[in-house]
Amino acid sequence: MGKFTILVVDDNKNNIFTLRCLLEDEFKDIALEEAINYQEALQKVIITPPDLILLDVQMPEVDGFELANILKSDSQTKDIPIIFLTAFFKEDEFVQRGYNLGAIDYLTKPIKEKRLYNKIHFHIQMYNQEQQLKEHNITLKKQLITDQLTKLYNRKHFDETIEKEIQRAKRYNTALSIIVADIDFFKKVNDNYGHIAGDNILSEFASIIKNNIRATDMAFRYGGEEFVILLPNTTSQEAKLLAKKLRKILKEHTFTNPKQITCSFGISEYKDKDTKETLFKKADEALYYVKNNGRDNIAIK
Ligand code: GH3
Ligand code: MG
Ligand code: MG
Repeated sequence: MGKFTILVVDDNKNNIFTLRCLLEDEFKDIALEEAINYQEALQKVIITPPDLILLDVQMPEVDGFELANILKSDSQTKDIPIIFLTAFFKEDEFVQRGYNLGAIDYLTKPIKEKRLYNKIHFHIQMYNQEQQLKEHNITLKKQLITDQLTKLYNRKHFDETIEKEIQRAKRYNTALSIIVADIDFFKKVNDNYGHIAGDNILSEFASIIKNNIRATDMAFRYGGEEFVILLPNTTSQEAKLLAKKLRKILKEHTFTNPKQITCSFGISEYKDKDTKETLFKKADEALYYVKNNGRDNIAIK
């Protein structure tokens, strides 16, 4: 989590200095940015987006209210909370202008430490809650597209991704291939060694795939013991090289129970009229050709 950043905007450097001293006294783990006019403030907001702005109302040229107006009308800055700082507090004016601008709060000068600290503590708490929520959302989104057992992407994500990759291949006229990989006689693994041993084989097999594809390739658990690898910028012949490599690794790898497994691979390459259904169907047909012809092999359709 990044540091909570406060931008202090005041045309009077002494005021900024006082605020800096007060804030640094109370808050050990915050970052402070300063601006002495609206131009500087707008620059700082872009370069180091603050989590809170302490904004002086009385400033020459563009005053605090006007600056708040600018910030609130820009989608990038509209959600940054603003606390107005004002020496001449006229509640009516603030209520009319400040709150209308979406400012959440104000402090009167001379700044009273306790009030300042309370308000900032409150904002830091809100900020932390928001960050936690954001992280939680990211975790949830990841879970939605991840297969729990193998930690590869799930089928739902395959359906969405292949669509996008086909669009990309069409648009940029690049190659796109898929490999469908199905473990041979997997039912026997469960029958002979139990379901947990079967699960372990699936996880280990998934890791082998994940560790041997490029960062731009994507691996999915399509269902049961069937996996799909999506290979952008890859012809079927290049895809075959990867399948060969995986087949070789499987031959050399020792699993726990059973020690050895084999896999059948079906490959297809995107061609002009293909949809995601036809592209997958071709690879599936290639896979079934292998299954019907002794398994443990690779075919392209
Ligand atoms: P083939 O060589 O023709 O592919 O034969 P197979 O036995 O691998 O294929 P089949 O489709 O007949 O059986 C797949 C088995 O995979 C049956 C099912 O119980 C098992 N399976 C599916 N999902 C899981 C899982 O999450 N964990 C475990 N342990 N087994 C699973
Ligand atoms: Mg199988
Ligand atoms: Mg199967």
